[in-house]
Amino acid sequence: MMIKILHLYPDLLNLYGDRGNIACLVKRLEWRGIKAETVKYTCDDKRPFDLSDIDIVFIGGGSDREQKIVCRRLLEHKKDLKDYVENNGVLIAVCGGYQLLGKYYKLEDETIEGLDILDIYTEQGKKRLISNAVLESDTIGGKIVGFENHGGRTHIGSHTPLGKVVYGFGNDDKSGYEGVIYKNVVATYLHGPLFPKNPRLCDYVLTNAIKRRDPGFKGLEPLDDALEITANEYIVNRFKT
Ligand code: GLN
Repeated sequence: MMIKILHLYPDLLNLYGDRGNIACLVKRLEWRGIKAETVKYTCDDKRPFDLSDIDIVFIGGGSDREQKIVCRRLLEHKKDLKDYVENNGVLIAVCGGYQLLGKYYKLEDETIEGLDILDIYTEQGKKRLISNAVLESDTIGGKIVGFENHGGRTHIGSHTPLGKVVYGFGNDDKSGYEGVIYKNVVATYLHGPLFPKNPRLCDYVLTNAIKRRDPGFKGLEPLDDALEITANEYIVNRFKT
């Protein structure tokens, strides 16, 4: 089996080295003897936009300026991305990428139109929400740790959140929830090494991708994650409230 990962707009959306998450996805597949291929689609790409053989799409974070540029290109592929998600395609969207999955991202002087894949919207607030973060997540059955830095407040309506905020600001600094889980979409404000810090979340994503290709898939072989789990627990304890 070969798992194909598409990194969307790595030239513009790659804040805090979001692409390291792709390295983690690939490595955790390879450790189990599953091959992986990563393809990039940049903003000036002239190739046809084809998701038919893609197993995982990754969209990272970016500044407001970069989001404005990306959004114009992204909207050209709105239908493909929407169909992909409705067809249970796995999509990981981080921060700026998360905001662009919604209806819009309203800035002080303009509104960026989103893909309308999720029934959510984002509005820029006065203060930036910058913090380490700890979530309690039913999806992975445990704690997710990470780092957030966003000006936008995302209102997720009746969507299922990725987790409950134990420490940090979350989607909007008020609701007490962070991110969204919708079908095989994981959308979150947590930047940087999300998957290395949260191997269970990484395996949740990989399992969904493999199952979509092979419905009879029995589950991933366990790996020795002792170090990763110790690091994760250290952060959970550090920010215990
Ligand atoms: N520009 C967006 C915000 O500030 C997203 C930032 C990011 O991706 N870190 O809300």
